[in-house]
Amino acid sequence: MSDNHCLSIIHLDLDAFFASVEQRDNPAYRGKPLIVGGVSGADRKDGKTNRGVVCAASYEARKYGVHAGMPIWEARQKCHQGIFIPSQMKKYLEASNYFFQICSTFTPLIEPLSIDELFLDVSGCESLFGSSEIIGRKIKERVYQEIGLKVSVGIAENKFLAKIATNLGKPDGFYLIPSKDRQKILYPLPVSALWGIGKKTEELLKKSGIYQVEQLAKMPDAILDDLLGKNGTKIKLLAQGIDNSPVTPASEAKSMSKETTFLTNIAEKAILLKELLKISQAVGYMARKEGYKARTITLKIRFQDFTTLNKSKTLENSTHLDNIIFKVILELLDKVNLKKGGVRLLGIKLSNLTSGNEIKQLKILRDEEDKKGDKLEQLTQSLDEIRDKFGSKAITRASLLR
Ligand SMILES: [Mg+2]
Repeated sequence: MSDNHCLSIIHLDLDAFFASVEQRDNPAYRGKPLIVGGVSGADRKDGKTNRGVVCAASYEARKYGVHAGMPIWEARQKCHQGIFIPSQMKKYLEASNYFFQICSTFTPLIEPLSIDELFLDVSGCESLFGSSEIIGRKIKERVYQEIGLKVSVGIAENKFLAKIATNLGKPDGFYLIPSKDRQKILYPLPVSALWGIGKKTEELLKKSGIYQVEQLAKMPDAILDDLLGKNGTKIKLLAQGIDNSPVTPASEAKSMSKETTFLTNIAEKAILLKELLKISQAVGYMARKEGYKARTITLKIRFQDFTTLNKSKTLENSTHLDNIIFKVILELLDKVNLKKGGVRLLGIKLSNLTSGNEIKQLKILRDEEDKKGDKLEQLTQSLDEIRDKFGSKAITRASLLR
């Protein structure tokens, strides 16, 4: 137990969650390539559907290259022998609640990442339940016995390393990264293993001959700043295995959203834009009032044939500013084919919310460029004050009045 006593962060992730629930409930699906997702209704001669995307694929299906987010038609091409079934959200939510309940018997310090994934901070729980390793084993055992699902467990000194540990152990994993091993484990990984490095940044780094975490960890700050801008410092720290972000328990509000349903179907883009600006302002105002910032912004569109699209973007820095929300919404709208006909409903959702404290810590990392953002922040604040006094109708942007 020498140096492992400071490994107090546990990351847990249910394996192939939706697919595993279905395989648990139906023996005929076990050991088979099972694909959950798609849209109900038939658009093929054989009575099946090609529409929608894969929500989850069993490990047997993943062997064929099927993964979540892939269009159903593509999954059918890759995996002819696959069993395709629609999702049953109610069942998954039940299992998810049970999973969170089991975890909460060990500590209230739980940060949910998604329906099947969370962080626990068990520092201070040792005298009650034993080491993080013992707690991790207990949770894993209980989840299997009580819910019939396999959960992968990662344990380390911080959130970033704990999540890396889970991914290294998957599926049905139990992986611990002792502090003394963090470089040995982290350095050979591809740069994409680091938070904040998406496809674009990965390409950029590749062009400079940077492929592995080790290269970033040892890179001089000046070069890194040139390459990655204001995120350079944060990313270098991660590359060295350093992450000081606390496990932040979810507030009651996991997301905030606003929707508008039209009386008649709207096809004119100008009207849709006007409405989206209004909703951006409403949802931004709501977030500011409640003291939240969001990292993920989702645009929801329902067409006259009742097909509904959700497009999301996750930002590097969270926001509660109308302008930024609206800018992201415009980007997302660009990806939507509006030729599908009239729109019945528009909505914007803010999720991945953080409360005030964490935001202040992040601010320290911000540089000159963001001073512009601060001005916007001040302006928004004064507008909010007017809104508070005279109601939301008092403030409308020029384009709304036209
Ligand atoms: Mg999972």
